[in-house]
Amino acid sequence: MHGLDPDVLIIGAGCAGIAAARALIARGQSCVVLEAGARVGGRAFTTRALGAPLDLGATWLHQAHDNPLTAFVGEHLDHDTVRERHLHLGDRFATRAEFAEYWRAHRAFEDALEAAPLTPDRSVMGAAPEAGPWDATIAHWLGSQINAMELTGISLEDYVKTDLDGPNLLPREGVGGLVPRLAEGLPIRLNHAVTQLDWSGRKGQGGVVARGAWGEMRAGRAIVTVSNGVLAAGSIAFTPELPAATRAAIAGLPMGLLTKIAFRAKGADRLGIAPFHTARRAVTPGAEPPMSWIFWPFGADHIFGFVGGARAWDLSRQGPVATEAAARADLAAMFGPRVDAVLGECLVTDWGENPLFRGSYTHARPGHHASRDTLATPLGDGRLRFAGEACHSRFAGTIAGAWLSGESAAA
Ligand SMILES: Cc1cc2nc3c(=O)[nH]c(=O)nc-3n(C[C@H](O)[C@H](O)[C@H](O)COP(=O)(O)OP(=O)(O)OC[C@H]3O[C@@H](n4cnc5c(N)ncnc54)[C@H](O)[C@@H]3O)c2cc1C
Repeated sequence: MHGLDPDVLIIGAGCAGIAAARALIARGQSCVVLEAGARVGGRAFTTRALGAPLDLGATWLHQAHDNPLTAFVGEHLDHDTVRERHLHLGDRFATRAEFAEYWRAHRAFEDALEAAPLTPDRSVMGAAPEAGPWDATIAHWLGSQINAMELTGISLEDYVKTDLDGPNLLPREGVGGLVPRLAEGLPIRLNHAVTQLDWSGRKGQGGVVARGAWGEMRAGRAIVTVSNGVLAAGSIAFTPELPAATRAAIAGLPMGLLTKIAFRAKGADRLGIAPFHTARRAVTPGAEPPMSWIFWPFGADHIFGFVGGARAWDLSRQGPVATEAAARADLAAMFGPRVDAVLGECLVTDWGENPLFRGSYTHARPGHHASRDTLATPLGDGRLRFAGEACHSRFAGTIAGAWLSGESAAA
């Protein structure tokens, strides 16, 4: 465009930004990626703070046979081939027969959702069976613990059109090992938070101008990949203001919250649970909603768990000390006081409070499934385009959706 200005500015170096930059460069276009944080990968982030790789954000490559990131994965394992699920019933773990009954109910619940007519404005809960003894546990699992939001707040259409099936691959290096590897060599500027984006295309200005405390940069077009939490908070001032339809789409796709908690074992006791197995408690009316746990991945000496939905937001506001205490109590409810001797150092994620994310991933409010396509619609003759997990319908909320939407924005 103007001398050395790049063809495209990409805001955010998560999955979508990395995919967009790779696709542009492959097409012979120049680009610069402006990333507010001090690292690439965004919500794909692996730490070794507890020794072995531990994903603080994305964990699995879902739907691996058509996940675009499967092509790049190194050593990995299909979690479904090695995980046994343990369900705690309040005073003991379910027997195999009880678990089989629960799992049948789980499949029937999902079949009922698939078969329900996609009436506009219908929530997932509006189509859920509520007759069986397991249904509250299943709804909690599918809502808060998988979609980071209670089923009452999620569009049925969005839910059934999102593919989250297996195979579910666990990369040994972590998803946050894999994704930043794909950014090697890309023109990424870290610590470049964009606070203003002028996409007016005013005469003499050409395309877009991004500004921040670091200065300003011009380009022909911009692809904005920051989370919808960041967009909804108004962290980037757009000039001119975004169209009403785009603002409504952002509001229709709020961020849910999934907080991860991990513990390193103090000694040799592994709680009698084999590597890769999972455990969770059945929902008890009147009690705090339970968390879910994955034990000793790849034989590492840590476990990790999730708390999602309203309880996750509540604990996030209370802070990591309260979240750790709640997590210890959740595990003690299954394993008893033995956990005190097992659970050592703890890590708690801050996706909810972190101003670069403000949540974990989006869901569509009832009636707002179409918002994903609206948000992905180019604006200003193609000068401005949004990308990221919120902009993909089939792989909504995931690294696969973020990646594909980045590629399609670049195209
Ligand atoms: C706990 C948790 C578990 C998850 N589990 C899975 C899973 O198992 N499988 C799966 O597929 N997905 C999972 N996800 C979702 C997945 O991580 C996201 O969908 C995906 O990483 C989003 O990528 P993105 O590029 O759309 O956004 P992001 O990764 O958020 O990238 C946007 C980037 O923009 C940057 N940014 C923010 N503000 C600015 C600004 N003003 N200027 C410049 N840069 C800015 C951010 O720092 C960030 O790097 C999980 C997420 C979380 C949090």
